Amino acid sequence: MLGQMMNSPLTINSVMNYAEKIHPNVEIVSVTSDNPRHRYTYKDAFARVRQLANALKKLDVSPSDRIATLAWNDYRHFELYYAVSCSNYVCHTINPRLFSEQINFIINHAQDQYVFLDPMFIGALEPLQEQLKSVKGFIVLTSKNNMPDTNLNNVHCYEELIANESTEFEFPNIDENEASSLCYTSGTTGDPKGVLYSHRSTILHGLGAMVPNAFNISNNEVVMPIVPMFHVNAWSLPYICAMAGAKIVFPGNKMADGETLTSLINDERITFSAGVPTVWLSLYNYLVENNKSVPTLNRCIVGGSACALSLMKNYKQNFDVDLQQAWGMTEMSPVGTVNTLKSNLQGIDETDQDKLIVKQGIPLYGVETKIVDDEDNELPWDGVKFGTLKVKGPWVASEYYQLADSDAFDEKGWFDTGDVCTFDSEGYMQITDRTKDVIKSGGEWISTIEIENLASDHSAINEAAVIGITHPKWDERPVVFAIKNANTDVSEAELLSFLEGKIAKWWTPDAVVFVDQLPHTATGKLDKKTLRKQFADMRLE
Ligand code: ADP
Repeated sequence: MLGQMMNSPLTINSVMNYAEKIHPNVEIVSVTSDNPRHRYTYKDAFARVRQLANALKKLDVSPSDRIATLAWNDYRHFELYYAVSCSNYVCHTINPRLFSEQINFIINHAQDQYVFLDPMFIGALEPLQEQLKSVKGFIVLTSKNNMPDTNLNNVHCYEELIANESTEFEFPNIDENEASSLCYTSGTTGDPKGVLYSHRSTILHGLGAMVPNAFNISNNEVVMPIVPMFHVNAWSLPYICAMAGAKIVFPGNKMADGETLTSLINDERITFSAGVPTVWLSLYNYLVENNKSVPTLNRCIVGGSACALSLMKNYKQNFDVDLQQAWGMTEMSPVGTVNTLKSNLQGIDETDQDKLIVKQGIPLYGVETKIVDDEDNELPWDGVKFGTLKVKGPWVASEYYQLADSDAFDEKGWFDTGDVCTFDSEGYMQITDRTKDVIKSGGEWISTIEIENLASDHSAINEAAVIGITHPKWDERPVVFAIKNANTDVSEAELLSFLEGKIAKWWTPDAVVFVDQLPHTATGKLDKKTLRKQFADMRLE
């Protein structure tokens, strides 16, 4: 017997309608290329979303067409998120930090019809435009007065495009399984692959990530998404905040600018933020060097790559900010786990707490997880055995966009994340490595993340990366590449003896190389592929 409840579609349109009606006066504050502090309300935002929807309708586009954005986090990008998806087009967010060949590949692969771009990306697209055969025009996200000169074909100014449009618009009825947005993986371990989200997956993921066991977002929070809107929908915060009625502060292109971030946090009374570890590391360095504090900031979600324990402890001790690990990936919308302390673990001592907070956390309701060995046998959750992490759920990709035959999806409906991890008996997951980064020494596996975390705990180390270097006897051995903190010193021998006793003896790195900088990917993660290339000629005895 079927239930007798209404089958209302789970669409992004429903989030827009809800936020506009229930939280109309909540603010959205942005740093943009043409305004250091733009502010308006959800009500204002959705009126402009309807103006944009009218303008989109007049462009040469059909349902399900991909409309691309190359833009930082700000209110115009927010308007595109809603106007494009709610009109039944697909909002394709592109990472502007990618190499131009990758941007070219992605736009052609997605067959984008129009590109909305921030003025600073004009220079990147002009030389490419002849190769972008599907693109019918470009819209620069700025006002008339700030419109730069450009030789882009069929170019419009965003503010002029929407200026005379009506604030009324009848959005189409959309099936919840229709595609809403598209994001390509940044290709840390291969070619970019498209992940096509649906309205339904977006809503369920937003609800799943909003709850107290995960992001814990209510309308009491002031949220600054530092994670870019081109990186997996800024971890869904533009939807979650609208669902919760939380004030949003968008930092524009100032994501690595300690001074702007600090003044936004303090002026706008930000309580919650989210970003990759390098963001938190550089903000920490800025706060310490400039003797600043961030009293309203309470919690930050840190994900995308592993966060060093020392950084978490430093934030807690010096600024009373909790950095909470989360794990996810483009294919998972992205959130899979968040580290929140279960009630039965509240009283654990400091050493156990340290061990717990470096873990990536417990799976959200809605995400099924398992770890398997090479023969796909499920492994126990004992906190020790590590295996390949597989996931399932309504916000996990079932295939890649226009890419047949990926072996990441198995016949039983599980997605192979390419991550290697442990689960403890409480359900806390800890990433040991990416399958492609794990070091295989004499047939045994060594976790690079664990060594990096420990090395970063040394007071003289600012950032550390561990990769396998070719070895005549053991195939590969770990080597640490480390940046020292300003005005501090540590020798290779001192760092190695600091690791002694904390890891198995045979995990001890064969060498430490001090460097001035480490390569990062377009999403701010340690780029081990490039580091391996840079040190491809290094030899160990
Ligand atoms: P890309 O694959 O291009 O790096 P993603 O952002 O989808 O793009 O990356 C997902 C990967 O990032 C995960 O598979 C995992 O390896 C890594 N990752 C994400 N969050 C964490 C975390 N908290 N700790 C360690 N690794 C993480």
